[in-house]
Amino acid sequence: MEQKLFTRIFHQTEPSLSDRFRILTEGAKYDVSCSSSGSDRQGCFAGGICHTFTPDGRCVSLLKILMSNDCRYQCRYCPNRKDLDIPRATLSPTELCEITDSFYRRNYIEGLFLSSAVFNTPDITMERMLQAVILLRKVYRFQGYIHMKAIPGCDPLLIRRAAEYADRMSVNTELPSRAGLQRLAPQKKPEHLAAPMTQLAQIWRERKETGQRILPAGQTTQMIVGATPDRDATILALTERLYLRYGMKRVYYSAYSPVGDPKVLPTEPEDRLRENRLYQADWLLRFYGFSAGELLAPGENLDPDLDPKSAWALRNPQQFPIEINTAPYEMLLRVPGIGIRSAHRILQARKETQLTCEDLQKMKVVLRRASHFILCNGKYQGCGENRTILRSRLLIPGARQVSPDQYSLFSTVQTAMTLTGEL
Ligand code: SF4
Repeated sequence: MEQKLFTRIFHQTEPSLSDRFRILTEGAKYDVSCSSSGSDRQGCFAGGICHTFTPDGRCVSLLKILMSNDCRYQCRYCPNRKDLDIPRATLSPTELCEITDSFYRRNYIEGLFLSSAVFNTPDITMERMLQAVILLRKVYRFQGYIHMKAIPGCDPLLIRRAAEYADRMSVNTELPSRAGLQRLAPQKKPEHLAAPMTQLAQIWRERKETGQRILPAGQTTQMIVGATPDRDATILALTERLYLRYGMKRVYYSAYSPVGDPKVLPTEPEDRLRENRLYQADWLLRFYGFSAGELLAPGENLDPDLDPKSAWALRNPQQFPIEINTAPYEMLLRVPGIGIRSAHRILQARKETQLTCEDLQKMKVVLRRASHFILCNGKYQGCGENRTILRSRLLIPGARQVSPDQYSLFSTVQTAMTLTGEL
């Protein structure tokens, strides 16, 4: 009798599938480790669907959802933490597959981004996610892209199996420093975060050696910026280590939204401009040959008014001007206004002729910025070495007038720079 009563009450109070879908897609939206940098967060997340870019630059839409938001952990920055009185929901593997499959068949999505709160032990959580992904691939014959979170602290065997079915996996770095992690997420140990990253890096290396089709899109990670007092120098140094040590495909930054515990966390959102500058610096680390230490000294933050390459050039006048007709590729890349594509075009074209400023213009070099740092056939057309004047010429108009909620209105030039890496 008691059991019957309990069952009836439970069924009455359990949210419907559509309510659970809403709760679980809403709960997933703060994780940025699949979504496009430089795009509007709300706009990119309508009805649980977000967008990500494949390595070849194709934009794909993903259903971004949690398996459960019923967390037993108490990470102070998280909107799903244990002590919050919020609607909780969990999907069974079959329910998750049904939803994903029906979205996929209707062409609403091209893939799945699956994460979860730790609703039981890390092993049980990861096992449930793995069941869903295996079911999706084997029974539903799902051919789409799958990005799956690895739950820190779970059995390495589960991660290994998951890597056989997912295209990409990620482990959240969470916060930029050990001290921040200890203070705000004491249940998450740095070694629990590092272990799956190490394992995924190993799987990636094996894949290259054996040619197996496993984890083809590699691993990524994300960290929250602005929840702790960590400076950009610390964040970039960590980013550099993550790329070098674990072969990350991307490190994502998430400007803190005030969804955490206001007793220990800021009540104002972190400026999205900071996130944008970090993405620009990240491009410089990955594609332009800069090191974190060159971009910032310990304790420094990126200049909010200048893109990081311009800021570096301004601090290093002794490196300029360079002769465009003879400078090595590595130095061309360091000139503000010359991106990777234009540097290649310069290398090609100067085999045939001595380049002039007009030639550079045709190659889409941004002369408004580059002219202060280059010679064309010995001719200089910049504004000289006066730092104040030079700085004013390098400022990007309108960059500071952006409020955190206006990111979609952010200078399209800057957004394009973040996405293409042409700095
Ligand atoms: S483990 Fe921490 S970050 Fe993840 S859902 Fe739970 S409280 Fe949030």
